[in-house]
Amino acid sequence: MGTIDLDFDRKHIWHPYTSMRDPLPVYPVKSASGVYIELEDGKRLIDGMSSWWAAIHGYNHPVLNKAIEQQAGMMSHVMFGGLTHEPAVALAKKLIELTPEPLQKVFFSDSGSVSVEVGIKMALQYQQAAGHSEKHRLLTLRSGYHGDTFTAMSVCDPVTGMHNLFSGVLPQQVFAEAPRCRFHETCSDGCIEDFRRKLETHHRELAAVILEPVVQGAGGMRCYSPDHLGKVRELCDRYGVLLIFDEIATGFGRTGRMFALEHANAAPDILCVGKALTGGYVSLAATLTTEQVAGVISEGEPGVFMHGPTFMANPLACSVASASIGLLTSSDWRKKVLNIEKGLSLGLEPCRSFRGVADVRVLGAIGVVELENPVDMAAIQKSFVEKGVWVRPFGKLVYLMPPYIISGQELTALSNAVCAAVGELSPGNG
Ligand SMILES: *Cc1c(COP(=O)(O)O)cnc(C)c1O
Repeated sequence: MGTIDLDFDRKHIWHPYTSMRDPLPVYPVKSASGVYIELEDGKRLIDGMSSWWAAIHGYNHPVLNKAIEQQAGMMSHVMFGGLTHEPAVALAKKLIELTPEPLQKVFFSDSGSVSVEVGIKMALQYQQAAGHSEKHRLLTLRSGYHGDTFTAMSVCDPVTGMHNLFSGVLPQQVFAEAPRCRFHETCSDGCIEDFRRKLETHHRELAAVILEPVVQGAGGMRCYSPDHLGKVRELCDRYGVLLIFDEIATGFGRTGRMFALEHANAAPDILCVGKALTGGYVSLAATLTTEQVAGVISEGEPGVFMHGPTFMANPLACSVASASIGLLTSSDWRKKVLNIEKGLSLGLEPCRSFRGVADVRVLGAIGVVELENPVDMAAIQKSFVEKGVWVRPFGKLVYLMPPYIISGQELTALSNAVCAAVGELSPGNG
């Protein structure tokens, strides 16, 4: 018997998207180090999830530990109203340097969803200050995911998003078809046509377009052509609509570029980052915007940007984020991500011929096996744990996004486990 009270957990603690009446089993974790998650019973699992895109350097990293310990010795937190500190300034400098040149103003917040709310609020305040209060709706792509708070929910895919029960109270946004072009293809006029038409029809009431560049994450794990992104930028300029990129999942190297927008050389008016920002240590997010957007907001009524979370720019979070970015930029992360891309392409390829598999796709350190039917989550989870890996599918998607530090051998073990688990789903697969 372990010491973690699973019975109490089951009775009293909500886990993500779970029932309190009939919760799925959860596995008690004792510790995590490098690419391994150690369960309470001593079993070690190779991590295939980076704790939802975040732990890019693996767990318990000495450099990140030291950054957070040193900062804790100075101050864990002070309010950001009327005060500032070195961790915030140092991190903002790094973010401005890493992101496209027009992005010069940084707003720190505590989670990805909040950074999306902040980005949308910036767009609305901008339009209002510019004398266009009628421009208050958003245009987005189907199959997107932007978080679980209310306005973020309103731009998640209305079908795969888990939010249709709130549809009566959410702001009604405009949805365009998700791009059909795949990553390596060019985007035809037909592919962008629905988006173009929606923009043309609605631009007078649109504050901004929001989308995930090149890779749509939790809304469907789809990759699309950077060409599409370039066309979106052009169309937004033509119709006077701001463009928000949500790089909360794709940021910090995951797609093979520091930010996915680099595949298209496209700069947004507003950029949201989170998840891997702190290397997965603590929750922190940021919303960046341009001189122009910040200028209009600051000159209009009420002359200030109306947001200010209690834990804004938390020094522990900012310190570990700077250390994580330092680790990344001083390493050969491009080569590591490229090696993971090669390993995943090779390792997941056998799944393609399995019965019940609809598609296999890999980009950067992201590998996806899309099934024809949703998986039995509890059963496949158990099967993965028995195989010594931590992989958490959702719906029809079994996917991997391992920490960048994973070795070739560990990556092979991970891919083999996915092939084996997917193979077991349909009789007759080898
Ligand atoms: C995870 C995610 C969010 C929400 O971030 P939280 O930190 O969970 O609030 C928003 N957008 C994208 C693309 C994400 O992957």
